[in-house]
Formats: sequence, C-alpha cells, structure tokens
Amino acid sequence: MRAPFTSFVVLSAVSSSLAAWVPLSSLQNRVDSPFLDCLETAGFDPVVQGESEYATDAAPFNLRFDWKPAALVYPNDSAGVAAAVKCGAAHSIKVNARSGGHSYAAFALGGEDGHLTVDLNNLRHLSVSGDTATIGAGNRLGDVALYLWENGQRAMAHGTCPYVGIGGHAGQGGFGLPSRAWGLLADQVQSLEIVTADGSILTASQSENSDLFWAATGAGSSFGIITSFTTVTHEALDSVAFSYTFANYGPAEASKGLQAWQNFANDPSKPLDVSLGLQIHIAPGDSPSGVVFSVSGQYYGVDEAKVNATFAPLLAELGQPSATFIQTQDWITSVLFLAGTTGLDSLNTTLAPDTHDDFYATSTFVSLDEPLGSPSTDAVMEYFYGPGATSEVAWFVIFDLYGGGESVINKVGADYNAFNARDALYSIQYYGTIPNSVSDADGISFIQGMKAAIEDNQPQTFFKEYVNYIDSTYTADFAHQKYYPTHTARLTDLKNKYDPNRVIHHPQDF
Ligand SMILES: Cc1cc2nc3c(=O)[nH]c(=O)nc-3n(C[C@H](O)[C@H](O)[C@H](O)COP(=O)(O)OP(=O)(O)OC[C@H]3O[C@@H](n4cnc5c(N)ncnc54)[C@H](O)[C@@H]3O)c2cc1C
Repeated sequence: MRAPFTSFVVLSAVSSSLAAWVPLSSLQNRVDSPFLDCLETAGFDPVVQGESEYATDAAPFNLRFDWKPAALVYPNDSAGVAAAVKCGAAHSIKVNARSGGHSYAAFALGGEDGHLTVDLNNLRHLSVSGDTATIGAGNRLGDVALYLWENGQRAMAHGTCPYVGIGGHAGQGGFGLPSRAWGLLADQVQSLEIVTADGSILTASQSENSDLFWAATGAGSSFGIITSFTTVTHEALDSVAFSYTFANYGPAEASKGLQAWQNFANDPSKPLDVSLGLQIHIAPGDSPSGVVFSVSGQYYGVDEAKVNATFAPLLAELGQPSATFIQTQDWITSVLFLAGTTGLDSLNTTLAPDTHDDFYATSTFVSLDEPLGSPSTDAVMEYFYGPGATSEVAWFVIFDLYGGGESVINKVGADYNAFNARDALYSIQYYGTIPNSVSDADGISFIQGMKAAIEDNQPQTFFKEYVNYIDSTYTADFAHQKYYPTHTARLTDLKNKYDPNRVIHHPQDF
C-alpha cells in the first residue's frame, strides 16, 4: 500500500507542472495513459497492474473474485478523493470507494475489470464530542468500537467483524445485536461528508442535501464516496451474553425450534424488550446429526436473572439445551466476544492484516406480516440436516432478529432512509466457504438450495434481501427488486441527478 500523498499536491491537482513530483518508479512501471497521467498530476502514485504492490492491494476479501482495477489510489483527505473521482470522470473510468473491502462481491474493486479503486485507508480520523462521533470513512468497526470505548465509554450498534469498514457497512444498513434498540448503523448517522461524481465535496444530513443523505444511508455505494460520518453514540452498556445449544436436535426438532423462536420474537401479547439482540445459528458441528442448532444473543442493560426469566417460556418449547452459556460482560468485552477474539489490541486493525475467504453468501428477510410456516421450516431443516450434514462446503446460517416489540429498526418508518426492509422480522444469512474440492457453481448451488427450501415452501411469492449480504449472482434489475423494491424509482432519479454519467458505478448500480 502506498504512502499518502500531501494536501499540497491535492490542492495543486490541476497543475501539470507538478508532473516532476511524480515518483520515477511508477512512471517506469506503467504504460502511459492520460488517465494515469491525470492521477499522477493530482499527486497520486497509482498502483497499477505489473507493480509489485498490485497483487496485495487488489486482493479482495472474497477470493472467489479476481477483478483487475485499472488503478488503486490512497488519498488522505476529501480533496484527494475529489481529485481521484475527477480523473475517473474525465477519462471514463468507473470509480469505486473501498473502506474495509469486505463486499461479498468485491464491488470496491469494481465488480468487473478496469475500474479505479479509491481506497480510504488514510481517512481514519476519529473524534467524539458529547454524544456524537465523527468517523473517517477509512475506519473499520473494531477501530471505531475501541475509540468510542476509550473516549468516554460510548458505543453504537454495528456488526461484529472488527475488519468490516464503516463505509460499506453504514452506507448500506449495518446490523448489530443492539440494533433493535439503537437502529441500524445507517440510522445512527446524523450527517456525512460525501464526494459526488462531479468532484464536489458536500455535507448531507436531514436538513442539508437531504435527498442525497436519504440515498447515501442505505444505498451508499451508488451516490458518491462518503469521506466522513457524524453519528449519534450511546452509553456503552453492560450486557449478558447467552447461548442455548441443542446438539441433539434433528430436523423435526429444529423446525419446531425455529417456529417457537419466531413466535417468541413477535408475540404481540408479550412484546420483546428492544434491549435484547437475538439470533439462531445453525452450522455443521459436533453432534450426532453433524449439525448444531443454537439460540444466542446479547441482552443489554440487564442481569442474568432477567435473562433466565425471559427465556424460560422459550426454553419450555425448545427443550433441555445440551449446553448453556450465560455471562455478564462489560461493553467492550461483548464487542470482543461477538468478534470471537480477545484483547483490546485485536480491535485495532492497524496491528494485524485482514484475513480472506473464498465464499458465496445470500440472504432472505422474513417479514413481520408473514412469518415462515412449517412447510418452509421443515424443508430447510431437512436440507441442513440432510445434504448440509455431509457437504464439503463449510457453511453457516444466521437468523438475526430485526423486529418484534418496539424495535427501532421497524419504528423509524418505511421510508426513513434508502434501506428498504423496515417490515423485517428477521434476516437469514446463508454463507458458505467453498473449498478447492468443490466447484464454484456447485458451492453456489448448494447455498442457494437452502434459500430455495425456505422460499419455495412458503405461500408468499416475494422476499426482500439485505444489500450488505450482496448476492454476487444478481443482475442489476433483480438486485434492485430484492434490495430496494419500493425505493428503486426514487434512487434511480437521484442517481440521474447526482451521477448522470454513472462515474461511481458497480454492476448492480442504478
Ligand atoms: C466477516 C464479515 C462479517 C460481517 N458481519 C456483518 C454484521 O454483523 N452485520 C452486517 O450488517 N453486515 C455484516 N457484514 C457485511 C458488511 O456489512 C458488508 O460486507 C459491508 O458492505 C462491508 O463494508 P466494507 O466497507 O468493509 O466493504 P467495501 O468492500 O469497502 O465496500 C462495500 C461497498 O460499499 C462501497 N463503499 C465502501 N466505502 C464507501 C464509502 N466511503 N462511500 C461510498 N461507498 C462506499 C464499496 O464501493 C462497495 O460497493 C459482514 C461481512 C463480513 C465479510
């Protein structure tokens, strides 16, 4: 990765007299092109194919993809981002931001060959003021959580992986276990700074460029490059982590278990406390069936007695767990626990490199109005405990509760921002690491079989999906139907307004 360039050079981006500043090495290593000249004149030392850094810098988190960007640049301020976007626009090279690089379809690398990746790694400023935080878009979730904890014991709702970037995560939703109480990460954003396709640096909030703010909090990858988020923060609460494992389940018990969980989550006569983050995990594991079903989560601001009392009625339906785990944790311990790691340093993503995976994932939102019927839950559990028990694909499925009770995710209203699933009761993420012994096509088909078991056995004909679990196999039109079914027209109009030439663009864009 290249060292940041200087603001002096950014401000002088239009001056061709700066060409002499460009490091000789990159000039020697690349084929001359007006596009690269533009970047170099703007003060960048772009990483291009054929250079030693390229393989590492262009490596996606999801190794199933091998997109070849035309160049990668590393601005260190908004002016630098604007200069890079202008070069892309001037030379008809599509541009994509990279924050954490964790897009399931590697869209930060273009989602196809020949794009310009604007890596935001040098935009890692962080500050807190009262109950708000300002967060550079190059920060990862671990760095944000650690900073907020160490600067006033503040917190936000966000996902569990420390290396996920705030740019893609907040830009397109961002679910975490406190989200029923605090909303998605996108909902906690109060304002943002964004570089639009013409190179303007704009502030967007509910009172300023409000249409752009609406679009960028939910469909963030399509409306510019967000350089900074200002977010609300919350008191970092203690919580109780809980997990009830049912290693003795077979498909019938698991189907009944999912039905019981679903009823418990959305029982109008007993509204579920929004401080409860609730999941089901199902994955291959050490059990007679080869598959393990567990109900788990985090209950914020309560003690263990409250957890035991809350789950007694559900456990009466689920039966005796084969293992139970209950532990009171302070906030940062819960962040580490959910990340599956220990030690505060493990949240500092500058200390160790990111990992990679070779995988396919997709998702389903089950709506509040139409919970799954038993034909659907029977079919999917037969799939998990049948083909799933012996598959070479290393799979897991997570059910994340969004709704129930007075969940803030639902309560903000259907059109609060571009995120288009305010009627979600829960999401289902189907994820599979595909080993070398299995072809991509077979691995993808195996995971899609899970989803088909759910969706083909349910009377409803339409399910929304979660764009942060972006399905790499979708056309743009199909993706819009799934991720933005009632927001596509408005988002397309806004895309025409802010990016008429489709400068900032990926294959599922508007
Ligand atoms: C291990 C793992 C765990 C995860 N856990 C969760 C979870 O708990 N909850 C959850 O909701 N999701 C989760 N996700 C999904 C995650 O939220 C998305 O993959 C997210 O989009 C990744 O953001 P990123 O910045 O790391 O990725 P990137 O690949 O950098 O970006 C993703 C997309 O957003 C665009 N983008 C990035 N930064 C910006 C920016 N600043 N401005 C405009 N566009 C931008 C990119 O161009 C790309 O199209 C997880 C993903 C992984 C791989």
